[in-house]
Amino acid sequence: MTRPMWINGAYTTGASGRVIEVHDPATEELIETVPAGNAEDATAAVDAAQAAFAEWRRTPAGQRAELLHEVANKLTATAEELALLLTREGGKPLVENRDEMGWSAACFHYYAEMGRNSRGRVIPSVESSQLNLVLKEPYGVIGAIVPWNYPILLMAWKVAPALAAGNTVVIKPSEMTPLSTLALADIFAGLPNGVVNILTGYGREAGEPLVRDPRVRVIAFTGSLETGRAIARTAAEQIKKLHLELGGKDAFIVAEDADLNVAVPGVAWAALLNTGQVCTSTERVYVHESIAPAFIERIVDYTRSLRLGPGIEPTTDIGPMVGASYRAKVEAHVDEARAQGARILAGGRRPPDRPRGYFYEPTVLVDVNHAMRIMREETFGPTIPIMTYRSFDEAINLANDSPFGLGANLYTSDARKVKQFYEEAQAGTLWVNDPLTDNDAGPFGGMKMSGMGRELGEEGLDEFRETKHLHWDFEGGAKPWWYPYGK
Ligand code: NAD
Repeated sequence: MTRPMWINGAYTTGASGRVIEVHDPATEELIETVPAGNAEDATAAVDAAQAAFAEWRRTPAGQRAELLHEVANKLTATAEELALLLTREGGKPLVENRDEMGWSAACFHYYAEMGRNSRGRVIPSVESSQLNLVLKEPYGVIGAIVPWNYPILLMAWKVAPALAAGNTVVIKPSEMTPLSTLALADIFAGLPNGVVNILTGYGREAGEPLVRDPRVRVIAFTGSLETGRAIARTAAEQIKKLHLELGGKDAFIVAEDADLNVAVPGVAWAALLNTGQVCTSTERVYVHESIAPAFIERIVDYTRSLRLGPGIEPTTDIGPMVGASYRAKVEAHVDEARAQGARILAGGRRPPDRPRGYFYEPTVLVDVNHAMRIMREETFGPTIPIMTYRSFDEAINLANDSPFGLGANLYTSDARKVKQFYEEAQAGTLWVNDPLTDNDAGPFGGMKMSGMGRELGEEGLDEFRETKHLHWDFEGGAKPWWYPYGK
């Protein structure tokens, strides 16, 4: 069965007639197919979004807020059904997808109210006859390009603020997980036709034409560094505004005063949630040498106790990875590190009892160093490579020794270490004793090669609002400041 795309409030099978197969990563079985959208479909989606913009931008903010609350309520009402679909197509354990649905609905509620309260500024004028206003207005059509690891949540982080600010949207879900996004058509049907459109397809065939279309004023993208670079090159032709949420290589520092009862499961889950396929997954651990032996022994035991299985089973702690190529990258990083002298204390292989599905055992490595790819490039899998350090300065330097700067974590009860960490750590989000938590009111995004711009919070709304400055003279311009020079 082919689940159709959704453009201008209507279902369509797309211009190419070709389809993309969507597989269950736990069993490798075909679930459904979706249209392989192309440039023609992208143009149709932008046509619809552009036509809908004229009315949507003028819809009173209070009315838009009501409609966005309605979207949130429908997401809550269908959360269980959507969570099941997310698990089938992406592999993530059901309990995590229930959380994803809850956070997504909360994001629409949050931006409904943020949009209702959105405002510009009145600024001081240079003459008493003038009024100066800073106005905020929507851009127009937004291209929201989304990855597979949090298909609904990362869509919500873009679409909710974009709509609240008065823009219209074309969503391009990942070709790995398009089904849950297409299931949202029923929910977005409560908005005027064309305000939201869902374009499925491969990145090159459907995503790139969206970036190339000059009517798409902003591309809000979450995905890999390589794709981010390709999009930036294409967008440069039109000086198109970009919002890029790219990869990470997050560090976790465990100080000598950390409570290991908390730090051991905390670090393990920061590294292993969603099988390590979170942009802010912990991918490097730095432990003070005085507690390293105890920490390593305990995290190895903890990691070995976790149960692998299909995300649909309630006993599963760790689901499959999303696909074969993603697992192959993890295997390459682990195998190379092993060949270069790393010791594998847990995992380091596919589970022998699961021949089907893209499973990989949670893996703890020691004797690693920064020359290894596993400490430099994004691994995006269930790995916990651990190094020791002597001084806190050294720990901060190691954490900052990365081209990425998405998030960074610290376990400590020492306020001086916290101060040094928040002043010196080069990352957009810092967590102290609180790994991986989100807050809709707080900006999220990366430094260095982890991207540009921020999602969530007031900053997240501003990414979708253009600033205009209005100079207005009440005396009708009778005494403009340039008058003596103009005559
Ligand atoms: P990806 O870059 O392969 O794909 C992301 C999206 O881009 C997909 O919809 C894909 O079809 C589309 N795409 C691919 N090529 C394109 C092109 N040339 N033009 C336009 N669109 C194109 O990423 P992925 O494998 O789906 O996701 C994993 C990556 O996402 C990881 O690197 C992860 O760190 C990153 N990520 C970052 C954040 C963050 O907030 N910083 C959050 C989640 C995931």
